[in-house]
Amino acid sequence: MKLLLSVTLFLAAVGAPLPAQSDDPSKLLASLEQQRQLSHRLREARQTGDLQEVARVMASLSALPHLVALPFSNEDDPRGALKAQAREMLDQELANATKVLEQTRRQALGKACTRCDGRAYRQCGRCQGKGYRERRVGRRMRRIDCRAWDPCPVCSESGRLAADPEVHQRLQRLVLLAGKEAVRIDVLTAIKNVLSNLDGVPPGLALESPRGGFLLKITGHGPFIPDKLKSTDKKKLKAAWLKSQPADRREYLYQLALDTARVADGLRFLSGQTKVPTLAEVIKKATPTTVEELAWNGRSLIGKFVSIEAVGKKPTQEYLDAVDFPLAGRINLDGVDPKMVVAFCYVPEDIEAIRACGKLGIGDKIDRSVRSYPPRAVMKALQKIGVGKRLRLQGRVLRHPDGVPAALLEVWRVEEVAAGEEGAQR
Ligand SMILES: [Zn+2]
Ligand SMILES: [Zn+2]
Repeated sequence: MKLLLSVTLFLAAVGAPLPAQSDDPSKLLASLEQQRQLSHRLREARQTGDLQEVARVMASLSALPHLVALPFSNEDDPRGALKAQAREMLDQELANATKVLEQTRRQALGKACTRCDGRAYRQCGRCQGKGYRERRVGRRMRRIDCRAWDPCPVCSESGRLAADPEVHQRLQRLVLLAGKEAVRIDVLTAIKNVLSNLDGVPPGLALESPRGGFLLKITGHGPFIPDKLKSTDKKKLKAAWLKSQPADRREYLYQLALDTARVADGLRFLSGQTKVPTLAEVIKKATPTTVEELAWNGRSLIGKFVSIEAVGKKPTQEYLDAVDFPLAGRINLDGVDPKMVVAFCYVPEDIEAIRACGKLGIGDKIDRSVRSYPPRAVMKALQKIGVGKRLRLQGRVLRHPDGVPAALLEVWRVEEVAAGEEGAQR
């Protein structure tokens, strides 16, 4: 993501005040000669695909005291044309980075094992997954223990084929753990033991119609803290657990782990955040900035509190599909490409999930920096404001560990900008 930095620097340079204009003809000629040389370098860099060099040359070009319009450009303003080119490049680069990320992930996961459908085990043919068999001894029927499942020999208990060796081993360990915990009588401890051992479990996996769906229906997909379940749900869960077959329990625990790993992966941007802001602090420190600045230069704002005004749009499917982001509270802003910046708020369930991750030891204290986030106030404010209205958003700019989106705007406060009040930033 070095390129991002250089293009960002370039865009910052374009926005900077121009050097003093000089009418000295010899200086003008020197400047034009420089532009000619730089344009040549720019063409070469583009041909070889060296995008960093492109960004560097563009920055040098835009800093020249005199610029003549670029050939084949409709723009009268050569600096504006350069800016448009840089944005196009940045856009392209982020789109490529998204593709590479997805590809790398897919490759690491390999394919679902065809023998076991990615489940890593097959139902035991002797007891049909019940975990015991009945045998006649004399006149009586006697129960004898049986293994409820047989390890899949094709994928050696990882459920994946041709996966990255690390992923393969990690999944094997998870499958083993889920199997061990499935025979436990205390369901809450079983869940806790599985969910607090998810380090390194890759995101992006799910079983097709997993067994034990009735257990999942009671608890939801997680992450959650088992002890914090409602007491009626706890009772239901315990009863359903005791009645269920070990094979159902194993698969429920496994699916729950995969779901939680996916959510935890999406929340990595909160990992290791040391500051614990309060709403009052966010409002006080929020520096007014423009949508344009946030959209194209969001990286330079990382770690800062900002206040922007923008028109909220309906989140279209295209918008939602543009980047992988786990939270539902995304705010689609006019003029902001979600690959560049995703503005979002947390709903109360998100904060619950983040707290659960923190308690389960997932990530590096990911619940710390949103300890005093007001999810209900933000949600209420957003619900009151219709789509298409001009909003004032105040919040914190965060880095996304994947580099795409380039930055995140964590919204702490939202209000409608009244007509006539536009641009009057507080
Ligand atoms: Zn069996
Ligand atoms: Zn298999």
